[in-house]
Amino acid sequence: MTVRVGILGATGAVGQRFIQLLDDHPTFELATVTASESSAGKTYREAAKWRVDAPIPDDVAEMEVRATEPDSVADDVDLLFSSLPSGVAADVEPAFLEEGYVVSSNSSNDRLADDVPLTIPEINPGHLDLIEVQRDERGWDGALVKNPNCSTITMVPTLAAIDRFGIEEINVSTLQAVSGAGYSGVTSMEIIDNAIPHIGGEENKMETESRKLLGDFDGTEVHHHEADVAASCNRIPTIDGHLENVFAKLADDPSPAEVRTAMREFEGVDLPSAPDQLIKVYGEADPERPQPRLDRTYADGMGICAGGVQSTSDGVKYNCLSHNTIRGAAGASLLNGELLVEEGYV
Ligand code: NAP
Repeated sequence: MTVRVGILGATGAVGQRFIQLLDDHPTFELATVTASESSAGKTYREAAKWRVDAPIPDDVAEMEVRATEPDSVADDVDLLFSSLPSGVAADVEPAFLEEGYVVSSNSSNDRLADDVPLTIPEINPGHLDLIEVQRDERGWDGALVKNPNCSTITMVPTLAAIDRFGIEEINVSTLQAVSGAGYSGVTSMEIIDNAIPHIGGEENKMETESRKLLGDFDGTEVHHHEADVAASCNRIPTIDGHLENVFAKLADDPSPAEVRTAMREFEGVDLPSAPDQLIKVYGEADPERPQPRLDRTYADGMGICAGGVQSTSDGVKYNCLSHNTIRGAAGASLLNGELLVEEGYV
């Protein structure tokens, strides 16, 4: 089975990762790339400041970049991946949905909407059925599914793994790579030899999206997880890979070994881009792992790494890491696209 796909916002940091991940994909065939008016009409090679550490696939390099509007997309495209700035996405995604396109989107608009599934296939695949509610309420022929913010997706799989011990409260502090801000996000003068203890809107995203992802869907609505979540987000001068320090207050009192086992044995999903083992866990012999440079490419950037697990007075603390533009963005949308196909929505 071949599914023809398009990328909205294909020239940016996340869009380039989509191009890389779709190259040789077993199901998806790239048919359309769009960007802003200033890129429209150029070849992809001319329009994109390519920075992925692999060449632009030859067939994509010569594709014409189209304007981001429904008329630009070929009629036989069934699925769109969106990596537009959220303000732009909030304006243009509905136009594609009204035209019947299924959109798997990275952008933060609508992630918390009651009728929009916010999905990580390994964590809450059943939430995808919110699409039925969404179609009833909005009258769209298409469907919209979102993946979470890159910092949220780094910690949530580890939280899902330890929720069996009764998560009551989460505190998390992040060390986030510059690619998370996109190309024009942080200048070199701001970030070299520096750390910035604020990322606009990021803390709120971690605090709210994580509770929706870990919530229960009753067929009509998602009941968010009741744990309090407090986040502190910091930008540091790494290129890719977000590292996070998590402090979890738990109802039970598991040993660090039990926590490591729960994470290591957390089940994945059988989708083409999913890693065999979602969470790689370092033990006491590797207290300095995970690290961005050494661990961001685990499972081709689709896995999560954890380590430094220690008991605290009321729970556990540990570190976790993921590749923010792969697992945290393009790879997350791609996996949601594969789930949409598997579940018959495409
Ligand atoms: P980016 O590097 O700034 O790329 C933005 C893309 O959107 C480019 O293709 C750009 O085209 C296009 N675009 C900008 N304005 C447009 C307009 N008015 N109309 C049509 N297209 C327009 O941003 P990014 O880092 O890839 O992020 C994309 C989205 O993913 C954002 O919503 C971001 O919050 C989210 N996200 C990013 C990450 C990450 O790690 N970077 C992680 C998770 C989620 P031009 O090249 O023509 O300007």
